[in-house]
Amino acid sequence: MVTDTRLQINTGWLSCAKRSECDHFDCRPIEHDISLLVIHNISLPPGEFGGPHIVDFFAGKLQPDHHPFFEQIYQMRVSSHLLIRRDGEIVQFVGFEQRAWHAGVSSFQGRTRCNDFSIGIELEGTDNDAYSEAQYKSLVHVTKVIMHNYPAISLGRIVGHNDIAPGRKTDPGSSFDWAQYRQQLG
Ligand SMILES: [Zn+2]
Repeated sequence: MVTDTRLQINTGWLSCAKRSECDHFDCRPIEHDISLLVIHNISLPPGEFGGPHIVDFFAGKLQPDHHPFFEQIYQMRVSSHLLIRRDGEIVQFVGFEQRAWHAGVSSFQGRTRCNDFSIGIELEGTDNDAYSEAQYKSLVHVTKVIMHNYPAISLGRIVGHNDIAPGRKTDPGSSFDWAQYRQQLG
């Protein structure tokens, strides 16, 4: 196992992640401007874990007739850089040097359009279900790797989606243990 965290990202792609097809991304307006990490949650259908639907959603291949909820969202063009599944598996959709479409209307310390300068990580989960230990383990690992490779992401620049889109977004929710996560990063 490679222990030097600097060696685990190659041209924006994590060596430990499974790569998944996605064309929901574009260029960052300012190249190499990567200074914020945003934690999210997602589950499709809501509250169900383990299916192929998140991967299908980010690939633009969600089938609207599969579930009533999918009818409302299947045309949305969104993505994240990473997804961490309940068993800790890490899936990467977009290279870190590219802009993924995860934050939407957002603002951090007065700067809007957080997609421009952030990395987005989706945890498979909900605001109310405790995340798994395997997810925390993977999240802590990838966060350390990301912080080593993109040193502008300091501890104070790791936030929830709710922090940059208050009133509009609630994820990762009260189920996310920020204290445990931050302690393990320290
Ligand atoms: Zn979110």
